[in-house]
Amino acid sequence: MGSGVGIRCRNEDCAYQEEFLEGVGGEYMVPPLIPGLHYKTRARLEKKLKHQTMKSFDASQAIYHCLSCGNLFGRPSVYIHFEEGDTFTYPTRCSRCRNSRIKKAGVKNLEGTPCPDCKQKSLHITHHILWD
Ligand SMILES: [Zn+2]
Ligand SMILES: [Zn+2]
Repeated sequence: MGSGVGIRCRNEDCAYQEEFLEGVGGEYMVPPLIPGLHYKTRARLEKKLKHQTMKSFDASQAIYHCLSCGNLFGRPSVYIHFEEGDTFTYPTRCSRCRNSRIKKAGVKNLEGTPCPDCKQKSLHITHHILWD
């Protein structure tokens, strides 16, 4: 189950628009082949998987909101717990300012969110497509 959402800024002087995926978990997301991982992150994950055993695993596409710079970005959200007690979490930082103050933003919360570019509370959902 997943969804695709398109957003744009209502401010006429601002050209911000973006498309995001949300959900899409399951067998599509096999570590370390998770789509959208940075190659360095993938290498780090591959190394962990070689030496440790996965106990639980959770991954899906998600939308993140940076509390520092206001950036919105789509990433695979990954949480792995290893038998050895170690964990792997992704993402941990904003794709724009590298700050770690990021939180998941659900599609529902995007309407009226401050625009990452002009900072006005003018984001608008243009389409939202659901699929199984
Ligand atoms: Zn940021
Ligand atoms: Zn804007």
